[in-house]
Amino acid sequence: MADCIFCKIVKKEIPSEVLYEDEEVLAFKDINPVAPVHVLVIPKKHLISVNDLVDQDVSLIGNIFIVIKKLAAQLGIAESGFRVVTNTGPDSGQVVGHLHFHLIGGKSLGVKIG
Ligand code: AMP
Ligand code: ZN
Repeated sequence: MADCIFCKIVKKEIPSEVLYEDEEVLAFKDINPVAPVHVLVIPKKHLISVNDLVDQDVSLIGNIFIVIKKLAAQLGIAESGFRVVTNTGPDSGQVVGHLHFHLIGGKSLGVKIG
């Protein structure tokens, strides 16, 4: 989508620190990290949020979670633990309207999720 910041990152029109890329998935460092490890894993195709998912996206979402698992191992947080967050819609505080999964770890995150 033309005005979408993450679509621009996919097209390399905006720079990012890419950690993983394949035909359908991109992972890059969050520009405003909340923990020592804070990576965003996104589908390259523009989906606004979980609300946009259809049955045909099942393998895409599965692949994204395999990427998350591999990145967690590569970044050294598989054993210490991590959190995967996907904000969806206004009450979640979603700011960027392109589906993304936050991979957060590298410190104790506590129990607060809301
Ligand atoms: P959310 O609140 O779930 O929509 O999260 C959006 C995330 O995108 C925030 O954590 C931002 O720090 C991050 N973000 C926004 N712009 C960029 C950018 N150009 N490069 C990397 N991360 C970004
Ligand atoms: Zn987009």
